[in-house]
Amino acid sequence: MAETSSDPAGAGRYAPSPSGDLHIGNLRTALLAWLFARHSGRRFLLRIEDLDDRAKAGVAEAQLRDLRSIGIDWDDEPMRQSDRRTAHDAAIDTLTAAGRTFECFCSRKEIQAAPTAPHAPPGAYPGTCRDLDDDERIRHRAEGRSPAIRLRSNTSRFTIVDDLCGRYTGVVDDFVLRRGDGTAAYNLAVVVDDGAQGIDQVVRADDLLSSTPRQAYLATLLGLPVPDHTHVPLVLNPAGQRLAKRDGAVTLADLALVGVDTAQVLSLMARSLLMAKKDESVTTATLLDRFDPTRLPDGPWILDPHDLW
Ligand code: GLU
Repeated sequence: MAETSSDPAGAGRYAPSPSGDLHIGNLRTALLAWLFARHSGRRFLLRIEDLDDRAKAGVAEAQLRDLRSIGIDWDDEPMRQSDRRTAHDAAIDTLTAAGRTFECFCSRKEIQAAPTAPHAPPGAYPGTCRDLDDDERIRHRAEGRSPAIRLRSNTSRFTIVDDLCGRYTGVVDDFVLRRGDGTAAYNLAVVVDDGAQGIDQVVRADDLLSSTPRQAYLATLLGLPVPDHTHVPLVLNPAGQRLAKRDGAVTLADLALVGVDTAQVLSLMARSLLMAKKDESVTTATLLDRFDPTRLPDGPWILDPHDLW
């Protein structure tokens, strides 16, 4: 059994990757996660997902500052995934002891080039290294390849029930638990760390919905409770793509430079959530009073950053 927190009230969380300043889409998702947690009497925790390849030094601190400046508060010190190596390794050891992992020497190119197994869902790992024998493993090591560790999955699909999206069945393949460089992979780290933080409510953007069946399945293998999931619509640019820095001034710092202050950003986000009138000034405390999870807009927020100034 993996490490779990025994907090009776439960907790929600926001788990940014410190890859750059948060933009208005990220801040809106964080605000929703905070509202869902506080509204349901849960604690709200942060986790800095700095195992992400895109992580940059100093960015996490700026993200925390921005969250605080729009009025989001949290309990406890934020967890940093880079401090969690022992727990990540222990979870992999548990799975290995149960015969649920294997070493994989494939490069990305080899995986793409491999024929897919019959009946395997599109994009699933083709199973190349699933049944290597000791000689083959020794040969690969002698070639200087350091293996990733993959889950030996015994299902190809898993179903979760999302509070906004409903029942969702997605692919579960032999996904990576530890990368060849020894770093815990995203799906493993999320599940182990949510368990350790006592997270029983995950509110995040709906671009992550497709990874949720893998994570929920992994949680059950590790004896961890599967959290409640709420995947909220993303903020999109007018072309229908996920909002990004290239769309213009979208971070608090950039918006401040063009004369849009933090209070205006909060008011704009509140309006997009149908929780404030145009230009009404609000605080996160007011929004918490008004919050009704059954009355959220159900589509994405289409935002043209050029309309902001
Ligand atoms: N770190 C991920 C991201 O910023 C979020 C992971 C999660 O919420 O589970 O996209």
